[in-house]
Amino acid sequence: MKNIDEILAKSEFSKSDIVQLLQVEGDDEKKLFKKSHQIKIDNVGNEVYFRGLVELSNICKKDCLYCGIRKSNTGINRYNIPDDKILEAAKFAYENNYGSIVLQAGERDDKDFVNRITYLLRSIKEISKGELGITISLGEQTRETYRRWFEAGAHRYLLRIESSNPDLYYKIHTNNDLHSHSKRLECLKILKGEGYQVGTGVMIGLPFQSFEDLANDILFMKDFDIDMVGMGPYIEHSDTPLFQYKDSLKSLDYRFRLALRMIAILRIVMKDINIASATALQAIDPLGREKALKIGANVIMPNITPTSNRSDYLLYQNKPCTDEGAEDCTNCMEARINLADGVIGYGKWGDSKHFKKRNKNKGKD
Ligand code: SAM
Repeated sequence: MKNIDEILAKSEFSKSDIVQLLQVEGDDEKKLFKKSHQIKIDNVGNEVYFRGLVELSNICKKDCLYCGIRKSNTGINRYNIPDDKILEAAKFAYENNYGSIVLQAGERDDKDFVNRITYLLRSIKEISKGELGITISLGEQTRETYRRWFEAGAHRYLLRIESSNPDLYYKIHTNNDLHSHSKRLECLKILKGEGYQVGTGVMIGLPFQSFEDLANDILFMKDFDIDMVGMGPYIEHSDTPLFQYKDSLKSLDYRFRLALRMIAILRIVMKDINIASATALQAIDPLGREKALKIGANVIMPNITPTSNRSDYLLYQNKPCTDEGAEDCTNCMEARINLADGVIGYGKWGDSKHFKKRNKNKGKD
């Protein structure tokens, strides 16, 4: 075991350094968080960018063993928010100066869906006079689809690799007809080639996951030269197959701390990327997202999905803010971000500085 000050003073971490940092506690953990906080302030400042999140449908063709909206879960009410309600939510984000929105949904790749998203992207651009930035998180698609959506106005894409370790990936995605780790990786490459700011992420505290796996996830993000990351704790859902391993899991509190350490380490390793403070953090600790902002994250995704559908997008149990309207959400966010010594970058796109550097200053503040 090395001394923590020695590791934190290094300009580059080895895998074993990261494995050690992932397990720090007490004063050593405080040192890690102090360093990641400082690096955040020095490189991306204290501005926090909003991405109003619309979870537009929970219909999904995938069967991820951990996810509450997996196609085999027959116990949920499937919904598809009508276009006018989605556009209303986008208008709300625009009028309230959010700067950007995120469209997320279960995965579909049929023609109707692809056309519909294209229409929605164009319409959102139109109603916001081109001013709202748009991130999408709609799973694995063909190059043509990614290209169409980019041309229609989306400029950032979130596709979590879930785990960089294929063995672990296949333990939590057992249907090989539907799930392919190499395809997911290929999609990330295509997204980059098509000009998107590309985000990925992993779940933290999964059954079968080791500290080495998590260290490799961080090194994967670095090697892939990712622009944005959204990662959070795995939270079990009783109506999913992975629930059977709940007794082998670390406690929720432990997974929460581990997720914070992952964010802090990643901020030190990738100083100028955008890091989202995942909603799953708040499901464990009411101030979870604020804690993540303090130690490295700089993006937050207030939920602006119409309230009537929110409780049906339960990826995991105890999901926060399923019953409050978008306006309550904004007020609550402002107070929370102030608590974390942040200021909201109202009306800004807040594109990833990392993306700008790698693309000769494309992207917008
Ligand atoms: N279909 C898109 C995709 O696959 O990228 C976006 C929707 S998907 C539900 C969004 C993310 O939710 C996944 O990438 C996964 O990491 C996360 N998620 C699903 N179930 C979860 C759970 N039980 N705990 C924590 N995160 C979960």
